[in-house]
Amino acid sequence: MRSFAVLLAVASPIAAQLPKPAANTAPMVSSLDASAAHYASVAKQIWSLAEVGYMEEKSSALLQSELKNAGFAVKPGVAGEPTAFVAEFGSGKPVIAILGEFDALPGLSQDTVPERKPLRTGGPGHGCGHNLFGTASTAAAIALKEWMQTNKVKGTLRMIGTPAEEGGSGKVYMVRDGVFNDVDAVIAWHPGDDNSVTGERTMATITGKFRFHGVSAHAAAAPERGRSAVDAVEAMDVMTNMLREHVPDGTRIHYVITNGGRAPNVVPDEGEVYYYVRHVDMAIVKDVWSRVVNAAKGAALGTGTTYDLQLVGSVYSLLPNETLAKVQQRSLEKVGGLTYTAEERAFAERLQKSDAFTAVPLETAAKVKPLAIGAPGTASTDVGDVSWVVPTVQLSAATWVPGTAAHSWQAVAAGGMTIGYKGMMVAAKTMALTGADLFSSPATVDAAKAELNTKRGPAFKYETALGTQPPQLDYRKGSVP
Ligand SMILES: [Zn+2]
Repeated sequence: MRSFAVLLAVASPIAAQLPKPAANTAPMVSSLDASAAHYASVAKQIWSLAEVGYMEEKSSALLQSELKNAGFAVKPGVAGEPTAFVAEFGSGKPVIAILGEFDALPGLSQDTVPERKPLRTGGPGHGCGHNLFGTASTAAAIALKEWMQTNKVKGTLRMIGTPAEEGGSGKVYMVRDGVFNDVDAVIAWHPGDDNSVTGERTMATITGKFRFHGVSAHAAAAPERGRSAVDAVEAMDVMTNMLREHVPDGTRIHYVITNGGRAPNVVPDEGEVYYYVRHVDMAIVKDVWSRVVNAAKGAALGTGTTYDLQLVGSVYSLLPNETLAKVQQRSLEKVGGLTYTAEERAFAERLQKSDAFTAVPLETAAKVKPLAIGAPGTASTDVGDVSWVVPTVQLSAATWVPGTAAHSWQAVAAGGMTIGYKGMMVAAKTMALTGADLFSSPATVDAAKAELNTKRGPAFKYETALGTQPPQLDYRKGSVP
C-alpha cells in the first residue's frame, strides 16, 4: 500500500491529495435519478430544434427557463453573444461554474434509427451531442443548488450557457471579455462513447474563410477579360496540399470550398474556401496558419485576384488539471457507467454494423476508464481557452454506442434516444458530485489553481488569435437549407 502511494506521488508531483467526499450527496443523486424523464424531454426538444452556432435562440431559452424556474438569476446575452447566458445562485467564494453547450452541426440531420435516415435532407443535427451537453449541465446545476440550500453551503454556483462551440469559438470571446475572471473552478463534460475523465490535451486551432475576388466574364466569348476567383481557391488548395509534407507531425489542415462558382460558362468573380489548421501546440498552429495565409497571397497574385480573410475561430488546447481530474474520477467511479436494455442492445448492434464504424465491445459503456493525463488528443474545443484561465475539469460519458465517432449520423441517432439520455445522466450526477466536493474543500480549489499557475508558467498571458474582433455571429449563415 505504501509503495503504491509513493508511486502515485512520483507520477503526479503537482496534483494535491483527494479531499474527503462532500456530505449528504445521496439525496442530490436521487433527485437527479427522479428527474431523468424530465431532462430526457428537455434534451429531446433541443435535439429536435437542432439549432446551429449563434442561432440557438430556442435551445438557449429552454435551458434558461429551466434554470429560472429552479431559482437561478439568469443573465442572457453575454460577451456580444445573444444566445450565451450566465445563471447564478448563491454568493461569495468559491465561484464554481458548470459549462453547457447546445449548438448543432450542419448537414447531419438524422432520425433515431440505426441506419442513415435524415429527418430533413441537408438539415442540421446534433452530431456532437450538445443537446445532451447543455441539458446535463443544467440538471447538475439545479441538483447542486438544492444540495447547497439543504446543507447551507456558502459560495456561488454558476451555469454558463456557451453557444457556438462548433467552429464559432463562443467561449473564446467570453474568456477574452472577462466572463471567467472571478471563477475559481470550471466543471464540464462532453458526450462520448466511453466514461472517462478527460486527460487529453486536445488540439489548438485557427480557422477562417478566404474570400477571393476576381472579374466575371463570358467563359467562352471573352475569357481573356475574366479573372477567376475559383482559380485562386484551387491554386491556394494545391499549395496547402503541398504544404502538408513540410509541417510538424500531428498537424491537421482541412478545408471545404464554400463558394465554388455557380455556372461553368461564367468566369466566377467570387470564390471562398474555409480552412482549419490544428496542432496540440498553439505556436505551431500560428506558424502553419501564417503559411496558409501566404498560400492565399500567392494564389491571388498568380490569378490576378484579390482576397480577404474572415478569421472565424481559434481555440487553445485543453490544459488538463490533475487535481480536479482526480476528484472527478472519484465521482465518476461512484456513479458508474450504464447498461443497455434488450431493445437498446439491438439498436446498438445494428448501429455497429453501419458503415465506417469501429466496433468496440458494448460493455465499454458500463465501465469507467482509469484516469490518464496529458496524452495528445485529436479533437478541439473552446473549453481549451477556459482551461488556461481557470482550473477546468471535463468528463466524457457514454451517450453514444461504443465505437461511434463524433460528428457522425450515428452520434445523432443515439443522442436523441434512451442511450443518449442514460449517458447524459451519468454526466449530470458526476458533475453535481464533483461540484459538491469542490464547494466542500477550499483547499482543493486552491491546489487546482496552484497547479494551473505552475503548468502555464509565470510569463503566461492569455491572448486569443481572434484579437479584438466581435463574435462572428453569421459564421453559419447559409449552412441550413
Ligand atoms: Zn462537441
